[in-house]
Amino acid sequence: MPLRIVHYNSPILRRKGRRVVGFDAALAELVNAMVETMHAAEGIGLAAQQVGLDLQVCVMDLRGTDRDFAWTLDGASTPLELIMPMALINPEVLALPSPREPYNEGCLSFPEIRGDVIRPTQILVRFQDVHGTAHELRSSGLLARCVQHEVDHLNGTLFIDRMEKKVRAGLETAVRDLAQRTRDSGTEVA
Ligand SMILES: [Zn+2]
Repeated sequence: MPLRIVHYNSPILRRKGRRVVGFDAALAELVNAMVETMHAAEGIGLAAQQVGLDLQVCVMDLRGTDRDFAWTLDGASTPLELIMPMALINPEVLALPSPREPYNEGCLSFPEIRGDVIRPTQILVRFQDVHGTAHELRSSGLLARCVQHEVDHLNGTLFIDRMEKKVRAGLETAVRDLAQRTRDSGTEVA
């Protein structure tokens, strides 16, 4: 069964994730449940905070996108079909020398709210898989963006924090209304 997705402004979304130390069946089960939840919500990424957990775990699946990005996993151009859905455990992102570009981002914790976010276009992320094995993913375009958006979640940072003042101001009412709805529905997750 898909997990419930936490909306802004639940406090959990601001909590930094704890490092994962146990690579056990419970972790595998959580990753599977997060992938199922992401697919059910038609998202391309989901972080643990978005299902109410302060853990360094996020999942991504970009097989359904236009694939206008490049990537290598551990130095090889492995087909997307073999590496996605992908779980990033304890990830650390490094921006590579590259232009910064705007892109209209959305977030499953902000239904119907989108806005331009400027980010580096090429990144390197070091992470562990669900078995604890270390990997290195280099990517550009939408994949690089998705990694940065999800890893931000693991550190309690939201896409609205990354928006330019003008963009953020244009969304102020919608963001405030969403926070109010989350409070009213009593589904805030501490
Ligand atoms: Zn998000």
